[in-house]
Amino acid sequence: MEGKSNRKYRQRREALADQVRAKGIQDERVIEAIRTVPRHIMVDTALENRAYEDSALPIGSGQTISQPYTVAVQTELLQVERGDKILEIGTGSGYQAAILCQMGAEVYSVERQEELYHNAKKVLRELGFRPHLKLGDGTMGWSAYAPYDGIVVTAGAPVVPDDLVKQLNVGGRLVVPVGNQESQVMIRITRVSEDSYEEEQLSHFKFVPLIGKKGWDKA
Ligand code: SAM
Repeated sequence: MEGKSNRKYRQRREALADQVRAKGIQDERVIEAIRTVPRHIMVDTALENRAYEDSALPIGSGQTISQPYTVAVQTELLQVERGDKILEIGTGSGYQAAILCQMGAEVYSVERQEELYHNAKKVLRELGFRPHLKLGDGTMGWSAYAPYDGIVVTAGAPVVPDDLVKQLNVGGRLVVPVGNQESQVMIRITRVSEDSYEEEQLSHFKFVPLIGKKGWDKA
């Protein structure tokens, strides 16, 4: 039988999914994934009670688990289909990776902070998800497994990292927040053919910085 605390969290998770829909997310597969993935497992127990607020929360190493609405926006922009090969830069807590796995994607994710990489690996295993995880600088992508149907960057970049663009399949989408360290515009680049790309600029967000060879030197 479902325990009291699981039932409490299930109700809060359903309310969060409704909230994300009310804010404008239309892809029901994304909403269903938010309704399913247990976000409270991905934050420190001291913050568990706040896991279903629509807000970013600290996860250690000076980083955050993204706001659920932001995760939903990026996931919707990726237009994920079951079986799509998706690369995420910035594993963090593992929440975005879990949402993508839940939607049936084959997920590759890179994180530069060792402690977060190990925590996410453990938590994702416990939840039964099996993304391919790598510790390192993701600003150059993960060429060994390229090309990807989708690439999502979950930290703010100073410019669109060119290696990521090159690692898209024809038809593939790159979703990346680009700007200064205070505010970024969400950009979606679609590879239309071998040598042509289409760029869309969407709304503004605030992410932690993407740090690395093709990102910021430091925060
Ligand atoms: N997707 C994460 C989640 O669901 O919790 C969001 C985590 S946080 C907003 C962004 C993450 O990007 C941080 O964990 C940070 O360490 C990581 N990051 C920053 N620069 C990176 C880089 N060059 N390569 C890989 N990860 C990076």
